[in-house]
Amino acid sequence: MLSFNYSIPTKIIFGPGKIKELATEKLFGKKALIVISSGTSMKKNGYLDQVIELLSKQGIESTVFDKILPNPVKTHVMEGALLARKAKCDFVIGLGGGSSIDSAKSIAVMATNEGDYWDYISGGTGKGLEVPNKPLPIVAITTTAGTGTEADPWTVITKEETNEKIGFGYEETFPRLSIVDPELMLSVPRNLTIYQGFDAFFHAAEGVIANISTPVSDLFALKSIELINKSLPEAAKNGNNLEARTDVALANTLSGLVESTSSCVSEHSMEHALSAYHPNLPHGAGLILLSEAYFSFFSDKAPEQFKKIAKAMGKEEKPENVVKAIHELKVRCQVENMKLADFGIQYDEMEKFAKNAFDTMGGLFNLDRYKLSLEEVIKIYQAAY
Ligand SMILES: [Zn+2]
Repeated sequence: MLSFNYSIPTKIIFGPGKIKELATEKLFGKKALIVISSGTSMKKNGYLDQVIELLSKQGIESTVFDKILPNPVKTHVMEGALLARKAKCDFVIGLGGGSSIDSAKSIAVMATNEGDYWDYISGGTGKGLEVPNKPLPIVAITTTAGTGTEADPWTVITKEETNEKIGFGYEETFPRLSIVDPELMLSVPRNLTIYQGFDAFFHAAEGVIANISTPVSDLFALKSIELINKSLPEAAKNGNNLEARTDVALANTLSGLVESTSSCVSEHSMEHALSAYHPNLPHGAGLILLSEAYFSFFSDKAPEQFKKIAKAMGKEEKPENVVKAIHELKVRCQVENMKLADFGIQYDEMEKFAKNAFDTMGGLFNLDRYKLSLEEVIKIYQAAY
């Protein structure tokens, strides 16, 4: 019989212009560590200054850590945590895309706990220890619509020395507060909009086909799929269309709620292996490149789930329509001709990727409705090439 637990302890403030509520919303102390990427967009677009200014209106001081890479690394988690301790920060704000917010979560953990971040990671060379102390409170302010991390506890960090890209998260790494303001997303460039929109799409679609999906996770996931299918091509083509941006932002937050109520499946393990070895491959692009081969393989293995996805994408409820609809969405976003080789990936690397996918994020394979073998994973990679 049906049974599930539901707990999402994040307050979400959603809507155009909502960033302003940072000046009045009850926060978590008098000093914030603001975590942003090493790129220039947060400064150039004025978002960093705006956040510092809004915080100062309620007497909160800020320290900025601005080193986060697109694929965030453990070194910067440790460095940011040290800065949070030295500056005596009371809470951590991740401002930007998924990489900054994920890093903020991991920094919040290491700001209050001893040892190395990998001591608390399960999988690969992680020691899988329990985290003894509560992390600092986490605030997420999203400026892209990609990972849904504002509505889930997950953070994905790479250990550079070993090419391990591993997810982590538990009850205490849910953001306490998330602000999702689509006006902050108007300046996201076309390619990033597409890659991140597809990432959100696959969080939702994988959440439907995962063997732990529930009627509640399906509500979030199918609405997310519908909104992305409807509005991602327009948000990509015309970045200033606030309505399309709002649809995609909502889809993204919904996909985060999917991550909190269902899960990604092995497509994500397979992608993490690709971008761990090829950090120039954006996560969403990796998913786009794997998706038709991956979803073709699973089409007859989760037919009821595939029918729901097909319907949410405006197609007749047939499992085989999902791959067609994904392909059409790619065409509408003009990414149908992208290839793994464009990112320097070689055909003979597939066995290495497959082993890495099992070694580092093997857990997600247990959430598939069909148990993949190493050979089958290699075949999916090859079919995607
Ligand atoms: Zn993802």
